[in-house]
Amino acid sequence: MIIGILKEPSFESRVSLLAGEVTALIKNGVNVWIELEAGVKAFCTDREYTERGAIIKSRTEIFDGADVLLSIHYSEVPLHLKNKVFIGIYHPIYNHAHVEEWVGHGHTVFSLDMLPRTTRAQTMDVLSSQSNIAGYKAAILAASMYPRYFPMMMTAAGSCSPAKILILGAGVAGLQAVATSRRLGAVVEVFDTRAAAKEEVMSLGAKFVEVEGTADASKAGGYAVDQTIEFQQKQKLRIAESIKKADIVISTAQIFGKKAPVLVTKDMMEAMRAGSIIIDLAAGTGGNTEITKDNETIIFGNVTVIGAGNLASSLPSDASKLYGKNVLNFLKLLINKTGTLEINFTDDIVSNTCITQGGKVISPLIIKNQNHGNIPEFHSEQH
Ligand code: NAD
Repeated sequence: MIIGILKEPSFESRVSLLAGEVTALIKNGVNVWIELEAGVKAFCTDREYTERGAIIKSRTEIFDGADVLLSIHYSEVPLHLKNKVFIGIYHPIYNHAHVEEWVGHGHTVFSLDMLPRTTRAQTMDVLSSQSNIAGYKAAILAASMYPRYFPMMMTAAGSCSPAKILILGAGVAGLQAVATSRRLGAVVEVFDTRAAAKEEVMSLGAKFVEVEGTADASKAGGYAVDQTIEFQQKQKLRIAESIKKADIVISTAQIFGKKAPVLVTKDMMEAMRAGSIIIDLAAGTGGNTEITKDNETIIFGNVTVIGAGNLASSLPSDASKLYGKNVLNFLKLLINKTGTLEINFTDDIVSNTCITQGGKVISPLIIKNQNHGNIPEFHSEQH
């Protein structure tokens, strides 16, 4: 069997497998083909891949010859190809045209954003490994752009107060943003609708702001759910109070399969002091502010709003390393001891991540969404 690693689109610096991960596949009897210069932006040369036993090929050769194709983002597949296997993060909930294309060509497509967030799936959880990086980088980016100190500074020339950071959403990215901001000495306040987040936030030395009346999310697989209008209004009032005092907002609030909730209004931004920064990690699903645009920086009065839906890409070496390890662990479910593809659809991780197979949509969630006409209006593809 041949696994092909595709070069990512020009906006992406990561690669889906670094040279370090090639050895394990080759030991398992799999041939690994790498598209020319696929790893260069993640600082992995073609030579490093070949030293580990991989073969460098052109994109066309990989599309034609590989059985399984790895990429992070969706790739346009040549029309003559049929029955290939693709593994990546393809956001099928938002990209119905892609789903139809895969069905039409009989491709078997695994989208790793559909992994269940269970203990067994943790080693394959690309959302967690990449969100962790995004949360870290958001705090570092904010610290480097902020015109003041993060920690309190008491010097002979005078004292400077610590930065006040508001973090919206305490999932994987939000918690890492809390931890990194705290390490840099900032004072941090956090909002989340999941009660479970309170303890995690407090254990990192930040303040958790509670808003009463959150909707029950116990059946959402750990994810948040839509909130009532009454709750949304109450939450906005509390966020408005906190944001007036904040210098930096790192927003990460998302609801799986839906557009991100708008939590920061223009009125709130007008109340922030000069030099304030908002880094919106939810930009890929619409953003948490009224004005966010993904991959754009917008100056709104005194505030700089950065739409950063793909921030993991700015730490390409470690992001690719962890992504590749996640993929290797996922491949263990699909490849048997003789290096042959053996897809076991009774495994819940396999069945939840597989979107299309044999000319049909087989993902239970995508079928349910299609039946309910529940197709989010925005497009999640970046750039
Ligand atoms: P996410 O990116 O889907 O959302 C980020 C955060 O935004 C979540 O904590 C969510 O509760 C919060 N949020 C949504 N609406 C909000 C609102 N109106 N106001 C404030 N906050 C709001 O989350 P994620 O990082 O992908 O994590 C999703 C869940 O999966 C979490 O519960 C996390 O603990 C869990 N998880 C479990 C595992 C595992 O067990 N294997 C691994 C990773 C994550």
